[in-house]
Amino acid sequence: MKTLQFSSDAVPVLGQGTWGMGEDARRKQAEVASLRLGLDLGMRLIDTAEMYGEGGAEEVVGEVMAGRREEVFLVSKVYPHNATRRGAIAACERSLKRLGTDRLDLYLLHWRGNVPLAETLAAFDSLVSTGKIRHWGVSNFDPEDLQALRVLEGGQAVAANQVLYNLSRRGPEWDLLPRCREHEVMVIAYSPIEQGRILNEPTLKAVAMRQEATPAQVALAWLLEQEGVVSIPKATQLEHVRENRAAADLQLTAADRVELDRAFPAPRGPVPLQML
Ligand code: NAP
Repeated sequence: MKTLQFSSDAVPVLGQGTWGMGEDARRKQAEVASLRLGLDLGMRLIDTAEMYGEGGAEEVVGEVMAGRREEVFLVSKVYPHNATRRGAIAACERSLKRLGTDRLDLYLLHWRGNVPLAETLAAFDSLVSTGKIRHWGVSNFDPEDLQALRVLEGGQAVAANQVLYNLSRRGPEWDLLPRCREHEVMVIAYSPIEQGRILNEPTLKAVAMRQEATPAQVALAWLLEQEGVVSIPKATQLEHVRENRAAADLQLTAADRVELDRAFPAPRGPVPLQML
């Protein structure tokens, strides 16, 4: 699996999402099994949040990691309304408890809310110094938000920005991706297959047919070619997990890229950052 150098870690470019998990006890074992399979196959970055299932997804991930914490690059997120100086520390401690671990590899502010960024930053700094998180970052930050953060003391330590980015949402290519690359901010592309909505697009289907692959694999392979980008598909069906892992070995051709560009054009000007 291709990796991306992130501080001292080699992070796999393909990870696993958990939105929608931990909401129904009857599905828990299936969710644990799918994430474990993904881990076995090398999709070692697991993305979760205190918001997902109101802590339920973190409990699922905790079960997945039992005895395997060292294998995982663990990402979680704090709600904006909890991201105060004290609130973020308390939220992180609750997350760690649900996850059954003593540290996160990356802790993100889920989106920019009303709490001053300087307060959140102070909390993140303190969490780094006590070893509860190794790195911190943000999510759903557009270039202006990033700039507002980076001018603050210590703000340049922002290590990642998780944003909506896939074939049908190419706006970040205009300014956000170049800005993140310039400042060595890892981009984590969420909803990489647009929650399934792009899978019937005719060009995607045609390229997939030629590649003897599936539309989801083509959409993921395209994202994996983008420099500095990690993507985190969510899959509970084991067949989807296997399929997604195999996408990391799919080689698109120049002709594939031309067709995909025609069907999903790159931005020709600034596009407001979208979020789901
Ligand atoms: P996604 O990964 O684009 O799509 C997930 C959906 O696609 C699920 O219904 C899944 O089905 C299906 N699927 C997965 N692999 C497939 C395949 N190979 N073929 C066909 N269908 C497939 O959407 P997402 O869950 O919104 O995004 C991924 C992760 O990003 C989230 O889980 C979350 O961790 C993160 N996220 C972050 C934010 C944020 O604000 N920071 C927002 C949204 C998402 P099954 O589950 O039935 O297998």
